[in-house]
Amino acid sequence: MVTVLRGVVALDGPSGTGKTTVARKLAAELGARYLDTGAMYRLVTLAVLREGIDPGDTDAVAALARDVEISVGTSPEEPSVLLNGEDVAEEIRTEPVNRAVSAVSAVPRVRKILVAGQRAIIDRVLAAEGGIVVEGRDIGTVVVPDAPLKVFLTASAEVRAARRSAQDSAAGRAVSAVDARASVERRDRLDSTRATSPLRVADDAVEFDTSELTVEEVIAALSELAGRRGLLNGEVAEARG
Ligand code: C5P
Repeated sequence: MVTVLRGVVALDGPSGTGKTTVARKLAAELGARYLDTGAMYRLVTLAVLREGIDPGDTDAVAALARDVEISVGTSPEEPSVLLNGEDVAEEIRTEPVNRAVSAVSAVPRVRKILVAGQRAIIDRVLAAEGGIVVEGRDIGTVVVPDAPLKVFLTASAEVRAARRSAQDSAAGRAVSAVDARASVERRDRLDSTRATSPLRVADDAVEFDTSELTVEEVIAALSELAGRRGLLNGEVAEARG
């Protein structure tokens, strides 16, 4: 019998904690969809940079966020990332975007637009397929405050920087461990101290320190938690074939 997730798993935490890897694998394993909300903030940021807009110009950033056409897919195997129809999956992970994204995501009007888009995607998936793993910074606190399972991943600064720099080198971007650590720490500081929807642990979230855990161990623990919360349903999978 195949298990299938019903409902929303909210996965929050700072960068480099393994959120993306864990979220995608967990969704694939549980026959669920996947939403990378960070990719949406990165898409708007890339548009801002391409238009030559100053990320600190909140009016211009908000106006662009309203007009730009962004799209993120919900397949955990191949989540598409499109800006005005163009595949920019690689470009949204580059250092200029890393540097500007926290300023763009701190703009309340940008968050309002993107949170509405995120909720529409989640509602559509819940109605059609039933289960989704959503990763970000404010999923458990703001986007889906009634999610039946909220998880907050953490890891030591060293581990997060090492993971970020390994990801960058795997993607052909040379970033030293020292630069990766500075970049990750700067972004987390900005994300945690902004006025609107700062990164914080939801009161009812389960915290996991992933520093010493493998991805498989984290996924096993989360699947078990989802099972204990009654979110896994085998019969639906059988009915679907
Ligand atoms: O998850 P990722 O590192 O791709 O997110 C990029 C940035 O997008 C974060 O550093 C943060 O500024 C912003 N973000 C956010 N709220 C979310 C997801 C991401 O503010 N739900």
